[in-house]
Amino acid sequence: MNGGEGRENWQEQQARLIQQARLVVVKVGSAVLTGPHGLEEEMLASLAGQMAALRAMPSGSLSGGQRRIVLVSSGAVAAGRAILRASGHAARQTADTSGLAARQAAAALGQGSLMQAWDAAFAPHAIPTAQVLLTRDDLRARQRFLNARNTFAELLDWDVLPIVNENDTVAVNELKFGDNDCLASLLVNLTGADLCINLTSAPGVLDASGQVMSHVPNVGALDLARLCGGKTLVGTGGMYSKLLAARRAAQIGVPTLILPGRQPDVLARAFAAAAAGEALPGTWICPAGHAIPRRKFWLAYQSEPAGSVQIDAGAARALLERGSSLLPGGVCGLEGSFQKGALLRVLHDGQGLGVGLSNYSAADLKKIMGLKRHEVAAILGDAHYPDVIHRDNLLLDAAV
Ligand code: GLU
Repeated sequence: MNGGEGRENWQEQQARLIQQARLVVVKVGSAVLTGPHGLEEEMLASLAGQMAALRAMPSGSLSGGQRRIVLVSSGAVAAGRAILRASGHAARQTADTSGLAARQAAAALGQGSLMQAWDAAFAPHAIPTAQVLLTRDDLRARQRFLNARNTFAELLDWDVLPIVNENDTVAVNELKFGDNDCLASLLVNLTGADLCINLTSAPGVLDASGQVMSHVPNVGALDLARLCGGKTLVGTGGMYSKLLAARRAAQIGVPTLILPGRQPDVLARAFAAAAAGEALPGTWICPAGHAIPRRKFWLAYQSEPAGSVQIDAGAARALLERGSSLLPGGVCGLEGSFQKGALLRVLHDGQGLGVGLSNYSAADLKKIMGLKRHEVAAILGDAHYPDVIHRDNLLLDAAV
């Protein structure tokens, strides 16, 4: 708040949250780090220098302390492809790397170079780096999620800079994060970061007239599909996935700054502008006023929905207006062959209302949908669950 003069405006909030940030997830895209000949060492050196400066700058939060960074770096596949092209071996030079297995192999080839390049870039600043490769499955099981969290905490306590990428080599489609934007948003939750910075090859988020938007006040209300030209396929990268990731972070009260990563000193300039109260480059995605519980974030985004339920108007009203659970009687259709405990999309009239964990398998739900409690008991016996999705396991307005 600004000295009791009422609510702060978005610029004041931006300046405050950037200066106070104690743990920042910085995501860098392949298009920022690589050129036609693979990894661009000068670019990595420049970004490493800027991140070193940000770490050295004490965070302005009340409890003070050193600012910490978790880096999410793409570029393994692009680096691997460049290594193939540069090799003197004809079959390797002409290899088709567009298929899944070839991209995974290219990632395996490039990940080592990517880490080596980052190591070399951070070495002049005496910052040790640690490679962390994750698949979505690693974060799906609560125990593994907590293990990963402990590892990050330890690395950060040692003042080591974790550099994270998807473990492309072993990730199969349903275990993939889809893209590193999604991975970065899950890491914001996992590490308890208070700021996310997405360095991209674009100047920021563009509005319909092609102008960079200085800020997005309510990313939940933004029609992402329209803004991003109908490109709604998660996993294809692009601004859609950056905004989807930013929306997730916003839901747990964490802002995202989308910056043109190839502009010289852009990170340093953004922090300097925030300190001086000047306009920042890129686009600021404001955090939501009311944060959702972390547990709901985890259940909603740990995995891709395995199916969907269509619900009737009465049930939709009960969920949206009264915060109720979803009962069997409100379900009028379903898709997918999911197990009990699966994550489902909740749809009404073709619109996604949210996601939640199902108490029933698809087979059982088919038998009881549309039925009242006593009718369900007659089919499944007395030990059934009263609700299909309990309200505690339901996230309305999910960014999926
Ligand atoms: N993990 C991929 C790579 O390192 C990139 C995925 C992404 O950029 O979203 O090449």
